Amino acid sequence: METGIRDIPDYPSPGILFKDITPLLADPALFAKAVDALAAAHRPGSGAEVDVVAGVEARGFIFGAGVALALGVGFVPIRKKGKLPYATVSAEYTLEYGTAVIEVHEDAVRPGQRVLLLDDVLATGGTAEAAAGLLEQVGAEVVALSFLVELGFLGGRDRLAGRQVNSLLHY
Ligand code: 5GP
Repeated sequence: METGIRDIPDYPSPGILFKDITPLLADPALFAKAVDALAAAHRPGSGAEVDVVAGVEARGFIFGAGVALALGVGFVPIRKKGKLPYATVSAEYTLEYGTAVIEVHEDAVRPGQRVLLLDDVLATGGTAEAAAGLLEQVGAEVVALSFLVELGFLGGRDRLAGRQVNSLLHY
């Protein structure tokens, strides 16, 4: 089956096999199919409806925006430190080497709003864990975390234990 995902060896550093999603984005049928499949679990009548979709910079914006439009709800960007113009809350998390900081606007959701968090790839789960925590800090109920690709051998799902995690493609 054509997935539109290609392996790039040694990117961004030696020994890493990076999943490049840009061929999928360039193929309108595959892109539409991916967005539709990511939205499916949260359609009206699913029992898992959401009020908002949130996405993590940068590739989470692409799928998050598509899914938000497909579901007819708004979109909340979670960004790298210093990129959001209004008052923010932030979270620092550990990367393979060093740390990163992501932020969300403090008024991004109304208290109790049901949020679906989107990103392209679930690897170690550090980014998603931090992003879900941020959304909860600003009052959201995080209904599920959805990914185009899950790199199962990195254990992200375990790190997100207790949360609803959905992925379309598993490696
Ligand atoms: P984690 O925090 O789960 O270790 O890493 C996930 C984050 O890094 C996501 O925001 C994702 O975009 C990015 N990422 C990690 N590995 C890959 C990969 O192989 N391909 C792509 N496209 N993104 C990756």
